[in-house]
Amino acid sequence: MPRGKNTNVYLVCKECKMQNYTTRINKKTTTKLEHKKFCVKCKKSTEHASGSEIKHSS
Ligand SMILES: [Zn+2]
Repeated sequence: MPRGKNTNVYLVCKECKMQNYTTRINKKTTTKLEHKKFCVKCKKSTEHASGSEIKHSS
């Protein structure tokens, strides 16, 4: 199993705080990530920022 350089994080809608997407970032090189994505709750494209880390459950 590869050891995680990359961290799975949620992409959170800045307007409603919904965790709509997940992405992988390298925490050593990426501090803040922002994407314009469609939010199902806002029903429009909004800025999504990288949020809390996703914990793996096994
Ligand atoms: Zn939203």
